Amino acid sequence: AKDEGGGEHYRYEPSLHASAEERRRLEFSLRHAIERGELLLNFQPVVDAYKENIVSFEALLRWQSKEHGFVSPAKFIPLAEDTRLIVPIGEWVLEQACLEAVNWPAHIRIAVNVSGEQLIEPEFASTVVRSLAKSGLTANRLEIEVTESIFLRDADLARKALEEIMALGCSVALDDFGTGYSSLGYLRKLRFSTIKVDRTFVQGAANHHPESLAIIRAVVAMADSLEMSTTAEGVETAEEAEMIRQLGCKKIQGYYFGRPMPAEEARIVCQRKLDP
Ligand code: C2E
Ligand code: CA
Ligand code: CA
Ligand code: CA
Repeated sequence: AKDEGGGEHYRYEPSLHASAEERRRLEFSLRHAIERGELLLNFQPVVDAYKENIVSFEALLRWQSKEHGFVSPAKFIPLAEDTRLIVPIGEWVLEQACLEAVNWPAHIRIAVNVSGEQLIEPEFASTVVRSLAKSGLTANRLEIEVTESIFLRDADLARKALEEIMALGCSVALDDFGTGYSSLGYLRKLRFSTIKVDRTFVQGAANHHPESLAIIRAVVAMADSLEMSTTAEGVETAEEAEMIRQLGCKKIQGYYFGRPMPAEEARIVCQRKLDP
């Protein structure tokens, strides 16, 4: 019989069904990932654009699941956020990152990604204090990375939380700048230490897209006048590094200077200047 269209909505969708089922299985596994020792951190160097020495490492979470193999952060971080598992996971990340960073020379900082859900937890600032105390890391060596999306749900609460950790002496970077909702209003109210220019603009500029070049120039000019630093993300070649330097970005992060690496490797690499 010919389908007249009315039944369209009820058509069986095996692909959707499978992904909901997969999500459930992933969530179940993720719930036990910490205690099973399946999570670990990688560290990616951020270098001074001119001197090319390492100024910090960004901690990037990895999940090697016994059931699902390696699961990409692009897949499990959103799941962790939706299920609030990001709160205990984020606490674990913060503590592990601080414990690792104390092994590095004192001028090298650690940047830790924090999701909105985690940031607006009433206990957030005290988990930061606890991680610093337990590791012995000084607050000025810890940088928290947040995206513009934290201002979408409860902007006042997010701002309060950031002010609390800034008062502790930690710095805050605005990540993926330009990809989310504009938070220009918050640039006025909050003293971010660094604006991270998203990889999409860096790649656009590398492909000579005039819009991307104009946007990077504008972000750098704005950051300069607000006395904030800038980091270009996703720099993959020498040519891109040179272009970014000419655009005036202060720091560079990307595969060209180093991929995210295991803790043992980061310890070795941070003792010397990086030669790409
Ligand atoms: P992000 O914070 O923007 O991190 C930068 C991402 O770009 C990382 O992906 C990194 O591996 C990748 N990357 C760095 N340099 C290059 C490059 O030159 N080329 C390309 N193509 N990619 C580059 P990763 O590790 O897969 O993480 C993806 C996202 O997952 C992160 O984006 C962040 O939003 C989230 N994430 C990772 N770890 C954590 C965490 O501990 N907590 C939270 N809340 N989110 C995390
Ligand atoms: Ca980040
Ligand atoms: Ca980013
Ligand atoms: Ca990103």
